[in-house]
Amino acid sequence: MNRKHVVVIGGSVAGMATALALDEHGHRVTVLEKEVLPRCQTAVEAFELWERRGAPQSRHSHAFLARLHNSIRERRPTLYAELMEAGAEQLRFKDMVDEVYEAPEFIPEDDEIVLLACRRITFDWVLRRHLEKHTEIEYRDGVAVEGLEASRDEGSGLPHVTGVRLAASEGDGCAAEVLRADLVVDASGRNSKLKHWLAEIGSAPLEEESESCGIFYCSRFYRVRDGVTPPKIEGPIGADLGYMKYAIFPGDSGIFSITLAAERHDDAMRKLRNVEAFEAASATLPATRAWVDPAVSEPVTDVYTYANLKNTLRFFVVEGTPLALGFFPIGDALVHANPISGRGCTLSWLGSYLLADAYAAHPDEPLAFARTLFAGVERELIPWYLNMRDQDRAANERGRMEASGEDPFAFEREDGTIDPKAYMHSLLRDGLLPALTEDLSVLRAFMRVFNMLDAPADILKDSELLMRVMAVWQRRGERDPIRLGPARSEMLEQLKQTAA
Ligand SMILES: Cc1cc2nc3c(=O)[nH]c(=O)nc-3n(C[C@H](O)[C@H](O)[C@H](O)COP(=O)(O)OP(=O)(O)OC[C@H]3O[C@@H](n4cnc5c(N)ncnc54)[C@H](O)[C@@H]3O)c2cc1C
Repeated sequence: MNRKHVVVIGGSVAGMATALALDEHGHRVTVLEKEVLPRCQTAVEAFELWERRGAPQSRHSHAFLARLHNSIRERRPTLYAELMEAGAEQLRFKDMVDEVYEAPEFIPEDDEIVLLACRRITFDWVLRRHLEKHTEIEYRDGVAVEGLEASRDEGSGLPHVTGVRLAASEGDGCAAEVLRADLVVDASGRNSKLKHWLAEIGSAPLEEESESCGIFYCSRFYRVRDGVTPPKIEGPIGADLGYMKYAIFPGDSGIFSITLAAERHDDAMRKLRNVEAFEAASATLPATRAWVDPAVSEPVTDVYTYANLKNTLRFFVVEGTPLALGFFPIGDALVHANPISGRGCTLSWLGSYLLADAYAAHPDEPLAFARTLFAGVERELIPWYLNMRDQDRAANERGRMEASGEDPFAFEREDGTIDPKAYMHSLLRDGLLPALTEDLSVLRAFMRVFNMLDAPADILKDSELLMRVMAVWQRRGERDPIRLGPARSEMLEQLKQTAA
């Protein structure tokens, strides 16, 4: 066995998953986390004490998709059992369908569609405890990385990272400590200093593609009252109203959360950041109304907000050449997308295992390691990013049209031709959406892609599914449009009354 020392920058989901995956191959791993995370005996205590300033999204709603749920259950059954002991629960597709369809005909693959209902802080707390109990991984919190140490690789001319420079502790007056490593992994999240660190060691400039997701997030957590059975989940846990997206996230230990995400330039909707407005909106939405009924639950936190959400892809490998050897970014530091898709933790987990596998194949060939890993990233991760980016572009365009008084669903032009974009909008709203509640095959296909079990291909490219959706769309005149929530004007009126 070729045992190496790997330093991982960042001790959140991607950092811990990378450490676990490398530990499985017998490497020595040191995780460096800048935040001090107080020792807690339970996940409930961690929810109270972990501020997570380094990863503030940890205090927002999180969905853990079936691809992640299944991978944890198969690869690390002990970790899975620990999550369940900490109060996490399964959210099964079959249970959801049973609430909506009469005598549904299931297929064996339906057992694969199971989400994990768990708070993000609980997830991270269980992971951290798992590392301590079952592995040799060294997890050092309160240790911030300030930069990289590197030499020049003579063959390729690329910088070769040989370690990290730690920020000197306050008041110790010593030179910053350097920690040597055979491989350094950057798992320091979306705000990684990667670009700056690479420039310092003389790499070619790091290019990135980054654009706004177009929304801001507001989340609040609630506890189901003792002795009360939570309302049934009878369909999708979220919806897009155009001016606002919303979702309800069952968590662990009787806690659930609600997220409302409005368009970032919509000043009137900024009121959602206030507790009163958030409550009024949640009590108005059909999917959340029963949950926030004071007889059912009580709020346990304020409303948390998160602005400046972006879809970002960083090009660390360009035309087969990495910007540096002995180094690779993973998790959000490499790629992140609109959180409304709930894919970030799954992508981080998958990326971590891709990294460990590539390192197992090429422990002493840094160029081959980077190329193999990047091929995996291109194959397994980037298609999800592109899918989300393109969906956001379409949603933002629809929003712009609505704001300027145009109807984005009017596909018949005056000259008798068809506007293909508007036609697609109409097919989604008046075909796919109702088909989810009428046709189990369509719902299954949608949920498999949503849960990252099938590739992010447009399900309307499947000719059989397209026929089914078209059949529902053809009958659009026979039913009222599905109402997922009030129109913006009604919602604003509701918020105005609350303020008054
Ligand atoms: C509002 C919001 C909601 C989300 N909802 C979901 C969801 O429902 N489902 C889902 O799967 N994903 C969701 N995501 C995405 C998910 O949270 C991220 O994909 C995931 O946290 C990425 O993990 P990471 O380890 O790469 O980065 P992070 O979790 O951001 O962690 C980075 C870590 O690095 C540490 N760090 C930073 N700099 C340094 C340094 N110099 N030295 C040492 N340590 C450092 C930080 O303190 C932090 O602990 C959401 C994201 C947001 C913003």
